[in-house]
Amino acid sequence: MKYGRTYNFSAGPAMMPEEVLEEIAAEMLNYRASGMCVMEMSHRSQVFQQIRDEAEADLRRLMGIPDNYKVLFIQGGGTLQFAMVPMNLMKNGTACYVETGAWSKKAIAEARKYGKVEVVASSADRNFSYIPDCSDLAIPADADYVYICENETINGTTYHTLPDTKGHVLVSDQSSMFLSRPCNVSDYGLIWGGVQKNVGPAGMAIVIIREDLIRHDLPDFVPTYLSYAVHADNDSLYNTPNCWAIYCCGKVFKYLLSHGGLEAAAARNQEKADVLYRFLDSSRFFTGSVRPEDRSVMNVPFVSPSKEQDAQVVSAAKAAGFDNLKGHKSVGGLRASIYNAMPKEGVEALVSFLRKYEAANG
Ligand SMILES: *Cc1c(COP(=O)(O)O)cnc(C)c1O
Repeated sequence: MKYGRTYNFSAGPAMMPEEVLEEIAAEMLNYRASGMCVMEMSHRSQVFQQIRDEAEADLRRLMGIPDNYKVLFIQGGGTLQFAMVPMNLMKNGTACYVETGAWSKKAIAEARKYGKVEVVASSADRNFSYIPDCSDLAIPADADYVYICENETINGTTYHTLPDTKGHVLVSDQSSMFLSRPCNVSDYGLIWGGVQKNVGPAGMAIVIIREDLIRHDLPDFVPTYLSYAVHADNDSLYNTPNCWAIYCCGKVFKYLLSHGGLEAAAARNQEKADVLYRFLDSSRFFTGSVRPEDRSVMNVPFVSPSKEQDAQVVSAAKAAGFDNLKGHKSVGGLRASIYNAMPKEGVEALVSFLRKYEAANG
């Protein structure tokens, strides 16, 4: 790779397209004759306003976001949304959650602080290695929403069909799959994603929310900053936003638009995932951890025959130029995160490394 860069399989922050990083580097000291770097710019300036507006317009075009949805850029990363969702959407005080792994568990624990949580389906019985059947969930009539983590980053599962919410609002944490494939926004009431997995730098979440769900009658205990209405009414400029992340994400939106949009991104991602899964299915040393029909296209967890060998593979891989292959501490094993910006050559090179490792050690 150019610049001595490494194939970085980190679950996040993760790789960004090289072309985008080059453009950012070229604009670093003087953004388009403004005389300053975007990091030094007033968020109230015309030049930044244009960066923000273009980012939103490009995202709307990329995802085909209908006019009755707001796009919000909110600080606090993904974790803050675990609290903002129930604070803003629990009107009746009950919400349904599907428990599929580490990130949905965190969302459930946080939501319990604000109201009643019904866990309507779970895959805890088999260590979160599959997506439970969500075709006939027991959803109480007064449930404010049904919440899913659509791609479980740590466990490596993804929904290939959405739950039947029986007319209730669907809320989805898309952090680790955001912009990895086309998305029919009107299937959801609210979509959110932390951007550092598949889009840009850490520290910001993008929230796409249907306008009728934005409430102006929140209880007094909700901090001003944590009201979706405050962000929506101020075009995400209520206070100083994460200007740098908005700028970088905007670059990535343009990059995706000029490379065939989300259909093309999905095809590239599927090709990469197929290379890795085909190898895992043929290997007698490495085993994929997830039920084949629920496998994530973004995060691929797998194991070798023992914990000791897992650790040996991780360090041999690092020495060979493949970084961050250690599985999350809560599940162990290995994990290759192959987001939008991971080139296909990176996955092919990893597979050829693993194949050789197996031949020598298997
Ligand atoms: C990373 C991640 C989060 C948390 O994001 P932070 O920005 O670290 O708070 C939440 N949900 C999912 C699915 C994630 O992958």
